[in-house]
Amino acid sequence: MAITPSCTLRPSKDWTHVPLVAREPRPEDAALVPLIRALRLAWERGDMPDAWLPFPQTHANIGYGPEARPLPIGALRLMWAARYPFVQACPACEHSAWMVSAGGHPTMGGLDLVCLACTTRWHQPIGGLYRVVEAINLRALDGSAFEAVGPQPLGSDGLALRKSLGLPHASG
Ligand SMILES: [Zn+2]
Repeated sequence: MAITPSCTLRPSKDWTHVPLVAREPRPEDAALVPLIRALRLAWERGDMPDAWLPFPQTHANIGYGPEARPLPIGALRLMWAARYPFVQACPACEHSAWMVSAGGHPTMGGLDLVCLACTTRWHQPIGGLYRVVEAINLRALDGSAFEAVGPQPLGSDGLALRKSLGLPHASG
């Protein structure tokens, strides 16, 4: 069960009409593209890397599953499969942008997506942290082992994931 204290919820506002906002590019963004492609390819082939391996991230702060683990690829798989808002058309080049992190503060937060073609980083504003948790569960993770549960402080360098996919360590 996701922890969703009602006191942190604001009156319902339909964030689905809020357009993506371009973010400052980050050095790691380009390296996320081959990682996303390799992950999808592995799943398409029927390879199943450990679902709890964390996707690399430094700014996300939502935990998943009973132990509030940093973004596990098993959660990402469900989110990407659900498509919107986790996969969206890139407003810059019309290729697709894929969710790479989710997080926020008590009053604002949302999803970050990176375009597989132009590597632009986009932000989908949703609302305070618990609204982000709620939106993720509602649209992708409810009933799974990976339900979003609330804040957690850990990031991940993604090294274990890259290793399991046979990708070289990305320095940037
Ligand atoms: Zn693009």
